[in-house]
Amino acid sequence: GKPVCECNTCFGGPDCSEFSPGCPADADSGDPLFLEPFWMQNAASSAMLVAGWHRMSYRFSDLSFISQELEKHIRKVHAIAKNAVTEGKYIVFGGGSTQVLNAAVYALSQQNSSSPAKVFASIPYYPIYKSQTDFFRSVDFEFEGDTSLLDNSTSDDPTNVIEFVTSPNNPDGQLKKAVLQGPSVKTIHDHAYYWPHFTAIPAPADEDVMIFTISKLTGHAGSRFGWALIKDEAVYQTMLTYMTMSEMGVSRDTQLRALKLLKVVLEGEGREIFDFAYETMRKRWEKLSQTLAMSKRFSIQEILPQYCTFFQKVRGPSPAYAWLKCEREEDRDCSAVLQAANIIGREGSMFTAGNRYVRLSLIKSQDDFNLLLQRINKLVSEEDDIK
Ligand code: PMP
Repeated sequence: GKPVCECNTCFGGPDCSEFSPGCPADADSGDPLFLEPFWMQNAASSAMLVAGWHRMSYRFSDLSFISQELEKHIRKVHAIAKNAVTEGKYIVFGGGSTQVLNAAVYALSQQNSSSPAKVFASIPYYPIYKSQTDFFRSVDFEFEGDTSLLDNSTSDDPTNVIEFVTSPNNPDGQLKKAVLQGPSVKTIHDHAYYWPHFTAIPAPADEDVMIFTISKLTGHAGSRFGWALIKDEAVYQTMLTYMTMSEMGVSRDTQLRALKLLKVVLEGEGREIFDFAYETMRKRWEKLSQTLAMSKRFSIQEILPQYCTFFQKVRGPSPAYAWLKCEREEDRDCSAVLQAANIIGREGSMFTAGNRYVRLSLIKSQDDFNLLLQRINKLVSEEDDIK
């Protein structure tokens, strides 16, 4: 009979259940589906049923757009993960951390300066910092590029400077510190991956503007929920204004769902989800490293073991992405080399690095990871044949 579904390049046969050998190993996007099995195991406690009459209003009972209950739970999650100091900090919610990032740039650029604030990040950096800052074409801020481009000779210029610090970094998973200094420098710390899943937590982060997201904490990227922890009250007020102007705050439905999910995160002092997430990511990294240890053609970043205050032990790497490098002189386009082996990665140029580099996502589903590993294994085992 006719197929009951529309088959894709990965599955064929009469009912689309047969795996097609030509299916690409897609390691491009940072979709955090590795957490799906955790939520399947916690399906009942994380489920939501919302009555039609519930949460219809623009506002919560305190007349704000922000759920106090959710705010309390976010502070608790940081306290148990030991990854951020929330005492004395304000919280702003956004539609994913993507929206919060721009709100922060906007707020930090309001300095009554005659020229726009200059925005920097260190290569390799997450592309949205540039694309979003360019897209809004604001008179208040503009993206400059790599932090090395800041001309220190003009350090007494009153122009204000904003630096994005991504720690751990996307794409290479390294813990990072701000590199620009001075009275006119403001810093936005993007801590999307600063959770025990992806890195050791050496100490709670205590910076002035810190940004987090449930996308990489619980894996619910589709709910679009992120937040900022902010020290300065004026910066907080300006970010709130931004959220009010652009969207009158985050969807109350999303806030409800985030609350439900964080309650499950808090079960067993976080051990359930953090153990699961760390173990999953650690095993993936171990397998990929073992395979690539046999390769002369490809290398991946080294991440040193570090003491983690959450697990209270020295722990090895478990990054969200592999930052793969093609070592051979002739492999200048590393992403093309992978593509020939039916592996899709994100090319280094996307992160303003050279095309000798490719980012491979390790946070997708187990099937995605297994196929990636299988293809890399094959590529490495063929190395001697080529030479
Ligand atoms: N910051 C970094 C470093 C990211 O990698 C991502 C998503 N890949 C984000 C922010 C944005 O995530 P979201 O908007 O889903 O919170």
